Amino acid sequence: KIVQDTERLEAVMNKNGTRESRILVFVRLRPMAKKEKDAGSRCCVRIVNRKDVYLTEFANENDYLRLKRLRGRHFTFDASFPDSTPQHEVYSVTTAELVESVLQGRNGSVFCYGATGAGKTYTMLGTVENPGVMVLAIKDLFTKIRQRSGDGNHVVHLSYLEVYNETVRDLLSPGRPLVLREDKQGIVAAGLTQYRAYSTDEVMAMLQRGNQNRTTEPTRVNETSSRSHAILQVVVEYRVKDASMNIVNRVGKLSLIDLAGSERALATDQRTLRSLEGANINRSLLALSSCINALVEGKKHIPYRNSKLTQLLKDSLGGACNTVMIANISPSNASFGETQNTLHWADRAKEIRTKASEASEANEEIQRLPEFETDQAKLLLELQ
Ligand code: ADP
Ligand code: MG
Repeated sequence: KIVQDTERLEAVMNKNGTRESRILVFVRLRPMAKKEKDAGSRCCVRIVNRKDVYLTEFANENDYLRLKRLRGRHFTFDASFPDSTPQHEVYSVTTAELVESVLQGRNGSVFCYGATGAGKTYTMLGTVENPGVMVLAIKDLFTKIRQRSGDGNHVVHLSYLEVYNETVRDLLSPGRPLVLREDKQGIVAAGLTQYRAYSTDEVMAMLQRGNQNRTTEPTRVNETSSRSHAILQVVVEYRVKDASMNIVNRVGKLSLIDLAGSERALATDQRTLRSLEGANINRSLLALSSCINALVEGKKHIPYRNSKLTQLLKDSLGGACNTVMIANISPSNASFGETQNTLHWADRAKEIRTKASEASEANEEIQRLPEFETDQAKLLLELQ
């Protein structure tokens, strides 16, 4: 199984070269729920070759017309996971490599993106029987640390926090909102619990407790329940000898993020960021899109300051770090519109990334061409 997973990971790697400072985009389809089946839902998504995603059926004629107007029904990602994909496979293909690089002092982040009910929390947190990416990452981290040193050289701290309505809360010790401060290490939430972790069982229990503290989970149907972002920060500190044999401290940070439901942040292509901002859309989610956009385009200024989420993720998004997006989708034709929006968004992110890297290779003269600028502006708008 491990060999299979490694081969799959290598296939992803080979196709895309190194993961240095780039975004990989994955899609995960969840199984049809019993309630959906009982209500007569049909499956409208098919995944082929672990890469290609096809939208196969439409809820109604309007969806069909919309689909034609957009860009067709076929999407390709770095990997796409069918509904039978077990948690550990999702983990090993998307995140295992980031865990490895955190142990080398680099930062990374994994986001689950998608509409409410599409499987974000299942992917990130999972259940006791089927733990998700957060738990598997920590488990793997402990295993790798044991293999590596076993001498207590590494210290792992966990923090679990929530951004809800632009308010930051500590999920491990709920109380008053936390204030974000900028210090030498970057932006920190003052007073945030740093939990020293020793074992995985303990971590799962802690995360589940934390999740119950989310402004959200018990009342899934509640209108506000989908608007909270949960962030697990895993900080690994260790000591190494530098070139002149001095002992120095290194820190690697992995952020694992269960984002708010994307249903309202996904507007149609024509809308500008400004009109989106006026429409009571999750500000942190929009700001995240803008930052990723600016990053993939190689912009000098990245607008981290626009939201609490992006401030918190400043050191996990830019610079020498790895970013993974997992777009979660439902198979049901009743969720057709959301699924299409999510796929479309993920596809755009991927495309702009390609354009951005091509752009950086082009010479300066070409970059100044007006067409190029128009094209770039258009893509920017589209992603936003
Ligand atoms: P979200 O966090 O995106 O709102 P959830 O993760 O809570 O969605 O998923 C909605 C429901 O679907 C939950 O009951 C969850 O257990 C189930 N579910 C989601 N993804 C899967 C999966 N891959 N396999 C089995 N059940 C899943
Ligand atoms: Mg959720």
